[in-house]
Amino acid sequence: MTSKIGSTVLGYPRIGPNRELKRALESYWSSRTGEAELRAVARELRLDSWRALRDAGLDSVPGNTFSFYDQVLDTAVTFGAVPPRYAELGLGPLDTYFAMARGVESMPPLEMTKWFDTNYHYLVPEIGPDTRFSLADRTPVEQYREAAEAGVTTRPVLVGPLTFLLLSKPAAGAPEAFRPLDKLAGLLDAYAELLGELYRAGVEWVQLDEPAFAADRSQPELDALREAYQRLGALGERPNLLVAGYFGDLGAALQVLASSPVEAIGVDLVAGTSTVDSLSSVRGLQDKTLVAGLVDGRNVWRTDLDKALATAATLLGSASEVAVSTSCSLLHVPYDVEAEENLDPQVKSWLAFAEQKVREVVVLGRALQAGRDAVAEELAAARAAVADRAQADRVRNNRVRARLQAMRPEYTTRSDYENRRAAQQKSLRLPPLPTTTIGSFPQTTDVRKARAALRAGRIDQATYRQRMREEIERVIHLQEELGLDVLVHGEPERNDMVQYFAEYLDGFASTDNGWVQSYGSRCVRPPILFGDVSRPKPITIEWASYAQRLTEKPVKGMLTGPVTILAWSFVRDDQPLADTAKQVALAIRDEVNDLEAAGIRVIQVDEPALRELLPLRAAQHEAYLDWAVTSFRLATCGVAESTQVHTHLCYSEFGDVINAIVALDADVTSIEAARSRMEVLDDLNSVGFGRGVGPGVYDIHSPRVPEVAEVADLLRAALAAVPADRLWVNPDCGLKTRGYVEVEAALKNMVGATAEVRPSL
Ligand code: GLN
Ligand code: ZN
Repeated sequence: MTSKIGSTVLGYPRIGPNRELKRALESYWSSRTGEAELRAVARELRLDSWRALRDAGLDSVPGNTFSFYDQVLDTAVTFGAVPPRYAELGLGPLDTYFAMARGVESMPPLEMTKWFDTNYHYLVPEIGPDTRFSLADRTPVEQYREAAEAGVTTRPVLVGPLTFLLLSKPAAGAPEAFRPLDKLAGLLDAYAELLGELYRAGVEWVQLDEPAFAADRSQPELDALREAYQRLGALGERPNLLVAGYFGDLGAALQVLASSPVEAIGVDLVAGTSTVDSLSSVRGLQDKTLVAGLVDGRNVWRTDLDKALATAATLLGSASEVAVSTSCSLLHVPYDVEAEENLDPQVKSWLAFAEQKVREVVVLGRALQAGRDAVAEELAAARAAVADRAQADRVRNNRVRARLQAMRPEYTTRSDYENRRAAQQKSLRLPPLPTTTIGSFPQTTDVRKARAALRAGRIDQATYRQRMREEIERVIHLQEELGLDVLVHGEPERNDMVQYFAEYLDGFASTDNGWVQSYGSRCVRPPILFGDVSRPKPITIEWASYAQRLTEKPVKGMLTGPVTILAWSFVRDDQPLADTAKQVALAIRDEVNDLEAAGIRVIQVDEPALRELLPLRAAQHEAYLDWAVTSFRLATCGVAESTQVHTHLCYSEFGDVINAIVALDADVTSIEAARSRMEVLDDLNSVGFGRGVGPGVYDIHSPRVPEVAEVADLLRAALAAVPADRLWVNPDCGLKTRGYVEVEAALKNMVGATAEVRPSL
């Protein structure tokens, strides 16, 4: 007789409530401490989480959710998929792991990319025809034992075999037709071996995560899913299997899993908005456990428990057990809202971070098992919080709503590009191939220190402003000396391109300790967007106009676009994202218009996250791109013909968003291109881009200084695709993370190369 799942969460944060793991990792990487110290910190963090989850009253506690860096990399290591070039470094197991994650001097790391549509990043495994899977590492078994010794029974969580292979890329040198999925059979052998060992260690339930099936999948991929779980399900000695799909509806994969021998299926009922309706037509759930993801695992709002219970009630007949869970792992939210001492108490009362969400799950579980009366108090408290938020004054701003209501088509259109171009040329008088940068200059220790001192109250606003002005002055003079054509103020006053704006906009709250893992030891603290957004007063005008007063050359005003602001914040769940985006756009529009009024003739609105919010399913792309483009245009179309609007995107593989980039209708778009040798320009031509474009001529992610000849070559390559009067010259991205020595040398060569190419035009 196995135990029920009852109430559980699909995963938990692991960086530590006070980022203990971050500190321990960084200390180990800089050789200040050794492996034993790092392992000791990790062990404490694991034990603390397991005990906390058990003590909170969860019926089933997830295990193996700890990672030194990333769970996908862990899976690769567990099953022996370490690319030979890392194994050959001759390092110990832990350092080989970190070499794959971060690189070593002689070897760059594995590629890193976004985990579905979250802000978490995983390392991309490389699988080739020669990859031999085996059970190479037994961490999942060891951690099960470790928890058991501490008195906690856990349910080891693994990335599922399909998701692992679907997220992998073919190893270099693999034949053209090779797909990592071709290696499924061998990988399943290794999974089978691990499941056998877990079973013999006493494990009752294992969770296999298959979020890849919340995205569009081909029939062969669905067939592979069927095969895999038939195969694993047919094993004689194995734990019960919970297969969890999240970040959206499972679509056809739900029926595949329901027809397989697995004992439980986890569904995301928050992002998967049509799952509940589809359940009635799914056959085969009757003898399974349905793990209902009712509590949002990746946003910070308190759950409407009444609503969740009502949803749960509709599921009751569909499966043999309905268990309660989070929609996905809690990895994507901070630990504890109670740790926020400076958060507005009313806003705080609407929030639930990981610890609070665990309690919500427990309450829902009790309500289902013992009836609502057993948790009447908790339900009443949740009801009151939800009601308070729904009618709170600070959530609604009728002026903002009225402005959006009154929105007319001319708010999102500008005159013809050719007219704009003529007017801008008359106003700006730029040379051919104008040179510029993406916005930020290196953030010096002095700048960081000044910001820390302001926060700690050691210096006052006036002193801080003075320091920033001095920095701006330095940056402007440097750019003049280098001979750049369109200058920037350097963004010294910004901690982060989203956080900075959130701090000045109404409708946003910031946390002190709301850290979320982005990748490895890197954490971010996303702002919380809780209400209608407006801009109480100008934000950047003071800095931009100060910079413009110092020079005759045009200074480019620098703003973050609405989509990027949303992508890097926790967003409201009480209205469509499209509505929120338009509100943010209006606030940015005010700033754009004020920059223009202050005499700034070039304004850049960055949208590096445009592609990040792209829905996982293609059927939803059009609707998303429609509001994303409208928001950008709403922000930027309020200016005169002669004002030049720029945008910046950090990548060059536009894929599904390429038409949207044309539709943004920016006068100039700067993009990443150095690494792909300007090929992106042909892609843009193929969709009739026909606007100004600044393909990055060198890669700022590396400290390497490009040679003049190299940049000149790239410019000539670019000129083959773009007419001279539309081509701009700039680095790939902002210079914030670089040092001044290399930045000066690189920009000098960039300007030098431009001077070399110009006479031939
Ligand atoms: N303007 C920003 C900067 O230069 C853009 C950063 C980005 O694209 N992520 O830092
Ligand atoms: Zn960038």
